[in-house]
Amino acid sequence: MSDAKVATVPDGTGWHSAGCGVIDLWYQDTPRVNAAYLFDTDDGFAIVETGPASAHAHLMAGIRSLGRDPQQLRHILLTHIHLDHAGGAGTLARMLPSVHVYVHHIGAPHLIDPSNLLRSATRIYGDAMERLWGTTEPVPEQRVSRLNDGAVLTLGGRTFDVVYTPGHASHHVAYRDRATGAVVAGDVAGVRIPPSRLAWPPTPPPDIDVGAWHASIARLRAVAPAALLISHFGVVEREQVFDHLGSVDRHLDAWVAFVEQQLAAGRERDAIVAGLTELARAELLQENCDDIGGSIAMATPYGMSVDGIMRYLRKRGERR
Ligand SMILES: [Zn+2]
Repeated sequence: MSDAKVATVPDGTGWHSAGCGVIDLWYQDTPRVNAAYLFDTDDGFAIVETGPASAHAHLMAGIRSLGRDPQQLRHILLTHIHLDHAGGAGTLARMLPSVHVYVHHIGAPHLIDPSNLLRSATRIYGDAMERLWGTTEPVPEQRVSRLNDGAVLTLGGRTFDVVYTPGHASHHVAYRDRATGAVVAGDVAGVRIPPSRLAWPPTPPPDIDVGAWHASIARLRAVAPAALLISHFGVVEREQVFDHLGSVDRHLDAWVAFVEQQLAAGRERDAIVAGLTELARAELLQENCDDIGGSIAMATPYGMSVDGIMRYLRKRGERR
């Protein structure tokens, strides 16, 4: 992307009326692809998600532009450990000795020792690892709290309910901020790049679970979020929440059915990726939003989505 384009596109950082700060992490130097959220507490402030280690400077700049001092960061809440959400946690833990990190218990071992996570990511990203993710550092074990469904976190007087929401990943959680009713929903509530209102399911390998995902969306509906704060990208307002979740449900089923049909017709993986890309582009065109197609492909690459669905179908076939 050229400098001129960056200069004319405002980034997504700012305070939202839901009572939280939105931080644009400028994923791959592109605005409005990857977000972190900031919540004030009586003991410094909390952030949900850190972005990858490569986004550290953008995270720091975002915290400052919200008028907060990065030294006051105390609590890091993670929806899951994928590198674009949590890869920067170890760097922050090293730099800020009073920071504590919260994550679902299934994800915790991979924060404490990221070597397996990095090995499998290297199989996917190869030479692009450093450029995309920077250096992912471990988080010391004594600085990590392991969460279960229904846990209640009270951090400096601010309370978050932990809602277990597997489907995108087996260790995914959402956080409901009791003060505002807003829910930080990570990836389980899909990818939607404004101004589009279409919500796509990020379905990467290795452990998507379609049934669990639909059940998690039902759990989010039951919570009746005052707003949904998604990682890719931004705030889904109260009046859009149910339509948005419906769009994730619908596209999840449509994408899985598409890949299944294509496989049955004997198509190869690359042809299926091209087909899914075209399907998505046609829908964006109908909305006059095809110019954000590149941002969507950054947040949830179609090749990765097809790989994740193919793996899911293979595992499901073996179980039957
Ligand atoms: Zn993810």
